Amino acid sequence: MGLRVHHLNCGTMNTSVARMVCHVLLIETPAGLVLVDSGMSGADFAEPAARLGPMRHVLGLAADPQEFAINQVRALGFDPRDVRHIVLTHMDFDHAGGISDFPEAQIHVTSAEALGALRGPTRHERIRYNTAQFSHDPKVVEHSPYGERWNDFAAAKELTEIDPGIVLVTMPGHSRGHACVAVDDGGRWLLHCGDAFDHRNEIRGLRRRVPFGMKAQAYLNAFDLGMYLDNQDRLHELWKQRDPNLMIFNAHDATLFDESKAAPVS
Ligand SMILES: [Zn+2]
Repeated sequence: MGLRVHHLNCGTMNTSVARMVCHVLLIETPAGLVLVDSGMSGADFAEPAARLGPMRHVLGLAADPQEFAINQVRALGFDPRDVRHIVLTHMDFDHAGGISDFPEAQIHVTSAEALGALRGPTRHERIRYNTAQFSHDPKVVEHSPYGERWNDFAAAKELTEIDPGIVLVTMPGHSRGHACVAVDDGGRWLLHCGDAFDHRNEIRGLRRRVPFGMKAQAYLNAFDLGMYLDNQDRLHELWKQRDPNLMIFNAHDATLFDESKAAPVS
């Protein structure tokens, strides 16, 4: 049996290039509610300099409480305390901002990402991550996916302590320990790619048709540009298979978000 999945936009970005979203999954599992990424929160907009940093100006962020994950969880009729696990693709501010609203939840990330964001940041990573978002002493659970396969990706790990239908697939490049999250949505797979790509054309073999500003920003932000582009090539290979039982999307492409929301629930 697959898992019931809700698609939430937990942070609209009105950049000069495009309207973008923060695509968050809310998953109903026997082990409680699970979020994949968490968008931004009220705490972020109350303390924007410390928690969102200078990028908030570039990304045209504006607080909309209806978008905060905690308020969407409530609006769907759930108790926020039932969110037991949050799986983060990585710990940039537009993905990790919501975790402080769920202080009891376990926060699942790769060990490489925890190292870059929390334990041993480089000078560049010290600037990149907004540690104020992690100052509530979150219950971080680190994973080192290795040896298990998901599709053609060799470094994957079923998060069996949550549900075997949730798989962490390492996909570094954008950040040191970036990962994608695959979710068994009942006979089909959803693949949340976080920031492994920003625009759908990047994995459709149409890189030239990606807005320049978006590409430039992503190239500047990449922890390892070579790995970032290699992984986009691998996602392109996966996309080319046109598997009707696989839906690939990312965190910020608003078109992919709309398509995911509109797709029939199986
Ligand atoms: Zn992002």
